[in-house]
Amino acid sequence: MFRLSRYYSIASLIGMVVIVVGLSLFLRQLAMQMLLAQQTRSNVDLTRSYANAMGGRIDQLVAVSEGLSAEALRQRPEMAVIQRATQAQMKGMNVVKVKVYNLDGMTVFSTEAKQIGEDKRANAGFQSARAGEVLSEIVFRNQFYAMEQVIVDRNLIATYIPIRDSDEGVVKAVFEVYTDVTPLVAKAQKTKTMIVGGVGLALLLLYLFLFLIVRRADRVLGEQDAERRLNEDRIRYQAFHDSLTELPNRNAFGERITDAIGRAQRHGKGGALLFLDLDRFKLINDSLGHDAGDQLLRVTASRIQKCLRETDLAFRLSGDEFTVILEDLDRIECAALAARRILEATASPVSLGDCEVIINLSIGITTFSGKEDDIEALVKEADTAMYRAKAIGHNQYVFYTQEMNTVASERLSMETDLQRALQRGEFLLHYQPKIDAASGALVSVEALLRWNHSTKGIVQPNDFIPLLEDTGMINEVGEWVLMEATRQAQAWIAAGLKPMRMSVNISGKQFRHPTLIGTVRRALEASGLESRYLELELTESMFIDNTERSIEAMHTLKLLGVSLSIDDFGSGYSSLAYLKQFPVDYLKIDRSFIHDLSTNSKDAAITTAISALAHSLNLKLVAEGVEDQAQVDFLGNLGCHELQGFLFSRPVPAQELEALLRSPVSFMAA
Ligand code: C2E
Ligand code: MG
Ligand code: MG
Repeated sequence: MFRLSRYYSIASLIGMVVIVVGLSLFLRQLAMQMLLAQQTRSNVDLTRSYANAMGGRIDQLVAVSEGLSAEALRQRPEMAVIQRATQAQMKGMNVVKVKVYNLDGMTVFSTEAKQIGEDKRANAGFQSARAGEVLSEIVFRNQFYAMEQVIVDRNLIATYIPIRDSDEGVVKAVFEVYTDVTPLVAKAQKTKTMIVGGVGLALLLLYLFLFLIVRRADRVLGEQDAERRLNEDRIRYQAFHDSLTELPNRNAFGERITDAIGRAQRHGKGGALLFLDLDRFKLINDSLGHDAGDQLLRVTASRIQKCLRETDLAFRLSGDEFTVILEDLDRIECAALAARRILEATASPVSLGDCEVIINLSIGITTFSGKEDDIEALVKEADTAMYRAKAIGHNQYVFYTQEMNTVASERLSMETDLQRALQRGEFLLHYQPKIDAASGALVSVEALLRWNHSTKGIVQPNDFIPLLEDTGMINEVGEWVLMEATRQAQAWIAAGLKPMRMSVNISGKQFRHPTLIGTVRRALEASGLESRYLELELTESMFIDNTERSIEAMHTLKLLGVSLSIDDFGSGYSSLAYLKQFPVDYLKIDRSFIHDLSTNSKDAAITTAISALAHSLNLKLVAEGVEDQAQVDFLGNLGCHELQGFLFSRPVPAQELEALLRSPVSFMAA
């Protein structure tokens, strides 16, 4: 992360040091220049008054110096006089040395006597003054011979001054004056230190103030950054996890299965893919509500997960579909063991509100070795095996075999064929009578759908209705059934046969579809059949789905004058409370109870209880699947109103039923 305060600190500290050092150097330079300029002026003035005060003695000395040796010069009698006069002249001033040069650069006088006679021709200061230009320089001396004493550690300014008779006259000698500026330099230094210190302090305060702001900004940025990361993590988590069960989802599955196959190839150890689906989950969801359904899925997910090793992974793909990837399997049986563990772990009852529900799973297993490159095909295999497990009786695991492909591809080709069946007119209805239990008269017929497949011949509804439901084609086909059944019923009435109810089966999906009521209305209008002759057979799950909409839909149908019947009663998760809420007329006991009525006492007890229930709720009772006289007798004793079954007639084509209708036989005599 970009640390604002760190960069600010480094940059501003460097900036501060540069400013302070720069300022310090600049001030020092400025102070020295000012000092030099000021001292030069004062030295020039001083020299002039000194030269005047000497009253030509110096001029004389300069004049005689030409050609004299240094020693001879030093021995000159006026030297002592000049020395004394100079001392007196300079007393109380900061002048520490005075020197005079003739035009050849020879030192003709110096307050430090031993320097007299020295040749200073090459000196830059002398040369400048000789050329008429005053020149000053500031120097530092550890030790310096001042007029009467030795001074130490001094800042001095040496000024070389040309001496002329008049301002425009020629240079006749050069003076060099040393002044001690140590106190002035110290003062300048102190002023400089104060200015630099003040500026430094102001900068430091500014730095601290800004640092606080920057640190605050840094913290805010840090918090924002942390929040952004958290959000990113959350979004990523949500993208790859199912919010209900917290298991990884379909997106994650796609990635993980690819990784697992890659690992299987590298390590040479295969794995397995398990496809799990809850049995009859929809019914539980519909009967106990979506909250209970969600709870069940959560429990299932956590139970599945508890059975797995750390390296195994469970996913929720959608609805009640889960997958598990098992890696590093020594033997294929390990996959079976895992599946069995899952079945056992999920089998114990789950409390959902007041109810206890048992979870049953169907598991399809397929294996992978690392050579697979089509993940979709692998999933399809596990899915196919899962369907097989469901088909052979739920709560099982089944390994995928090559033959299953045939079943799956058959399902696929059926699907394609079904899509064309309606246009090709391959659907037809068979009709099965319902008999009045008391009189033996035929009082109703149930329309049962058949599919006359071009190569397979007649296909039974159990083999294709689930497919119609899965693909959504049920609405279109269901509409055709309603149209055809009502048309046929009206045709029989028109042909002079005794009017009777026509029962039409309605599947759950069809019932929930918003067009159903419109379709029923149109079927009645198109056929001209009176609505009291139409009965709709609904399954328990539609009643269980106790939503406002389904109650309203049933009332609307009742208002149309249509009869309603609950088909296969007792086979679902019956929550009997719904019976009083819905305006139904008939209860059709599921044929599984009728089948062993005379031999199975439990079935007899259930049938008796259902009969009592129907009577007390004022519902007509219908029994389907009646195949023998013993069943007829039992049901007759219970006061069952209508009977339906192979004993009276199998479902038959319209012409055959018409023949039955025309014969005045009482079915009870059969
Ligand atoms: P269902 O509505 O319960 O229909 C009764 C089923 O029991 C029929 O099977 C009938 O042939 C069979 N059956 C009748 N009497 C006996 C008997 O004495 N013994 C035995 N063993 N079976 C008997 P089918 O025609 O194969 O229909 C199966 C299911 O398919 C129907 O069950 C119904 O749920 C569904 N179905 C049929 N036609 C349609 C339709 O047009 N629309 C919808 N949505 N479902 C339909
Ligand atoms: Mg039925
Ligand atoms: Mg039935």
